Amino acid sequence: MKVLIVGGVAGGASAAARLRRLDESAQIIIFERSSFVSYANCGLPYYIGGVIEDESELSLQAPESLWKRFRIDARTRQEVCAVDPAGKTVTVCRLDSGELYQESYDKLILSPGAKPVKPDMPGINSEKLFTLRTVEDTLRMRRYIDSRKPGSALLVGGGYIGLELAENLRERGLRVTIVQQPDQLMNTLDYDMATLVHAKLRQNGVELRLNSNVTGFEDSEDGIKAFLGSGESISADMVLLAIGVSPDNSLALSAGLELGIKGSIVVNDRMESSVPDIYAVGDAVQIKNPVSGQDALISLAGPANKQGRIAADNICGIDSHYAGTMGSSVIKIFDMTVASTGLSEKAARAAGLEIDRVVLSPSSHASYYPGAKNMTVKIIYEKGSLKLLGAQIIGYEGVDKRLDIISAAMSGALKADRLKELELAYAPPYSSAKDPVNMAGFIIDNIENARLGQFHWDELPGISNDGSVIRLDVRTRAEYELSHIEGFINIPLDDLRERLSELERGKPVYVICQSGIRSYIACRVLAQNGFECYNFSGGYGFYRAVSEERLCGESGYPCGMEK
Ligand code: FAD
Repeated sequence: MKVLIVGGVAGGASAAARLRRLDESAQIIIFERSSFVSYANCGLPYYIGGVIEDESELSLQAPESLWKRFRIDARTRQEVCAVDPAGKTVTVCRLDSGELYQESYDKLILSPGAKPVKPDMPGINSEKLFTLRTVEDTLRMRRYIDSRKPGSALLVGGGYIGLELAENLRERGLRVTIVQQPDQLMNTLDYDMATLVHAKLRQNGVELRLNSNVTGFEDSEDGIKAFLGSGESISADMVLLAIGVSPDNSLALSAGLELGIKGSIVVNDRMESSVPDIYAVGDAVQIKNPVSGQDALISLAGPANKQGRIAADNICGIDSHYAGTMGSSVIKIFDMTVASTGLSEKAARAAGLEIDRVVLSPSSHASYYPGAKNMTVKIIYEKGSLKLLGAQIIGYEGVDKRLDIISAAMSGALKADRLKELELAYAPPYSSAKDPVNMAGFIIDNIENARLGQFHWDELPGISNDGSVIRLDVRTRAEYELSHIEGFINIPLDDLRERLSELERGKPVYVICQSGIRSYIACRVLAQNGFECYNFSGGYGFYRAVSEERLCGESGYPCGMEK
């Protein structure tokens, strides 16, 4: 059997290695347009920042090592420029000589990835404008920084790659401005959670221009100017464009494969395309999101690697199926970790689902053991069925662990309230006897069993301020005096039982505290004393992050920056 693979990185290299492990006699050829195979895309921003110091660390394998260990023939600087499905051949271009040749196949796997979106606008081909996809892109960017010593960078796009670049460029001492069209960074997060990301970036000197779009660029003597839709312009020494990716589908088009969202390749769950003997994997393919049941494009390394393996399995006669991609991801933003999976609240609502959400701010580990830090956990689930729809967690230590637990629970179709039952490893340096994931389960269980009512930051304006309800802050006097929400009276939790007579019976009570725990206890006291009580989801810390961002958005920029 002769298998050709287009693209020698995440999906392609994974497929090749699995093929060899399953079939010692197969002839396996990888074609890779760039000079490197099996390189670490995910590490590229860290080479720019100097965290990864050695260029050689960026490649996990070389053609020689692939041949030595796996007898895989990896041909770099060779681009497959056409596929002939009828004749079962591909046309290959040797990029150094321009020479063309043909290669036949029994099975073909396409893993060409996705290319950075580069809209047709003035100045887009400036030499001072960069995109990041390959090792070559990285080296070009790094050389520019090393030799020209730019003092400032404008980043267009606030997704994963943009934010990793922002951090790494700050590490190199550049002033960084991010221009982002929506009112928030990281589209996979909800606005409320994204405000925590905004605050972290601003604290680290990154200037944010949200609700702004770039319309073009112009080289100037000492840098490059970006023009905004508002009519303003921003000057910088370099521009990094990271406004998303689109499937690299030129071969799929040439082979007449069925295409889906944004021209991605349509595959079944065995990773077979619409044309016999052609498989496709990775960022170029359309996947099913098992949470929404809808088709989607999700560009992540884990899915690409797994799909490569599944394509290889099926080629070798193993009946292997891809379960879909929920989009579990994690990113480091300075000292903070941001992780998410499944649907955000806004995506779930857009999909027409009736949802509920909980936000909590538990400690990363037992608070009496040194170094514990709060994390903010948001869980979205379907009302009635209690199907877990998604989670977003932002904090410091232990964020990735909790996110992965919830992701595993979602894969196993565990209902939201059953998070309370999970038996999770505990010792004080790592967690609490009731882990944050259990805590989320307890809250959901309380809500579902009518032991707890809650209200959210975006419902606050709708809660009457005419005296028909009681707004209660149960933090200590000192915390309250430091700052509080207008219209909330203060009765510290520990005094509540003695001061119940100060609350007018018959009026619902909306309670807030710093993290949501004291207000929950207050609600239990109040409910058992005949009051209708609602607990503020996420606590005052969360409220402040969101409300400061909103104030900041209204007053323009810059806000909250510590340069
Ligand atoms: P790729 O890994 O991109 O490989 C495609 C290869 O195909 C390319 O090398 C390309 O040169 C080659 N190619 C294309 N067309 C041809 C052709 N016609 N002939 C020959 N060769 C061709 N994901 C995460 O999960 N976590 C992360 O932290 C993360 N960080 C990232 C950081 C950066 C800077 C980038 C760019 C991506 C990151 N990703 C991350 C995404 C992840 O790298 C991709 O989802 C994954 O690599 C996709 O695998 P793939 O095989 O589909 O494509």
